[in-house]
Amino acid sequence: HAKNCGKNNAKLYCSALTTRIMSHVKLETGLRRALQNNELYLHYQPQIDVRSAQLVGVEALLRWRHPELGLVAPDDFIPLAEETGLIVPIGAWVLRTACMQVRAWQEQSGRAVRVAVNLSARQFKDENLAQTVLSVLDETGLDPRLLELELTEGTLMDDAQATLSTLEQLRAIGVYLSIDDFGTGYSSMNYLKRFDVRALKIDRSFISGLPEDSENAAITRAIIAMAHGLKLAVVAEGVETAEQLQLLQQYGCDLAQGYLLGHPSPEEAIGELLMGACETVVR
Ligand code: C2E
Ligand code: MG
Ligand code: MG
Ligand code: MG
Repeated sequence: HAKNCGKNNAKLYCSALTTRIMSHVKLETGLRRALQNNELYLHYQPQIDVRSAQLVGVEALLRWRHPELGLVAPDDFIPLAEETGLIVPIGAWVLRTACMQVRAWQEQSGRAVRVAVNLSARQFKDENLAQTVLSVLDETGLDPRLLELELTEGTLMDDAQATLSTLEQLRAIGVYLSIDDFGTGYSSMNYLKRFDVRALKIDRSFISGLPEDSENAAITRAIIAMAHGLKLAVVAEGVETAEQLQLLQQYGCDLAQGYLLGHPSPEEAIGELLMGACETVVR
């Protein structure tokens, strides 16, 4: 507010504001160049079958190394990418890179793993999304059932016509859909019946207090029971301790993901895991 840039605090306040605007502009121009400058890359985090302890999939997580600012966290640049619409070309790059990588691992190791790719609401409003997914699958020759798209509750609650028709097209292509950060968004369960969802990912905030936090334990059990009642798989996010994993196993949770089982890692580390070079855990 220009009005606040009065006499006394003016200098301090205005310059703080200027710095914020400047860094926003810097991030935005930086993000526009990031793709062509090869500053974006992916890390992959293992998803483990709780019963068999096998690696069954990975989640692709976007990373950005800015030439001056260094590593910028997704939570700092994804919202900006959404606002500016840059998430659409960036998201297409993520999809293509992740699918190519899974094919490369498949050829190297003879093992098929699933890859989960995060999609933001903005990408869902893009009428070309299904076409992008289709061409990526076509180019890479990846089985659609090895591609999982992670959406949030908010994305599915938006019943804009574009969202609905995109969901229908994706279902026809045969990719899997899962709900990320489940339990933190809108609480309507209607969309679970309406859409062909494969899995719910229990948000890390419910897992982090386990096993002590009895409320989060109750919520976790309830989500697992509901998901199984609807014939959906359950993935626990943010599993950091052996006690948490043990409890989840006891609750019948299907898959687990978290620092205990593997940090988000470069493709070589996952490749080694698949080749059987190390046992289960990536550090
Ligand atoms: P998310 O999809 O819920 O991803 C899980 C986040 O939790 C990741 O943060 C991951 O590094 C972190 N994490 C995993 N295990 C643990 C754990 O045991 N403990 C803790 N404390 N954290 C854990 P990251 O990589 O910073 O990503 C943050 C968010 O950015 C993601 O949340 C996702 O919403 C978004 N994001 C990341 N990559 C993409 C992308 O390619 N496209 C879109 N649209 N969004 C993305
Ligand atoms: Mg995710
Ligand atoms: Mg999540
Ligand atoms: Mg998230």
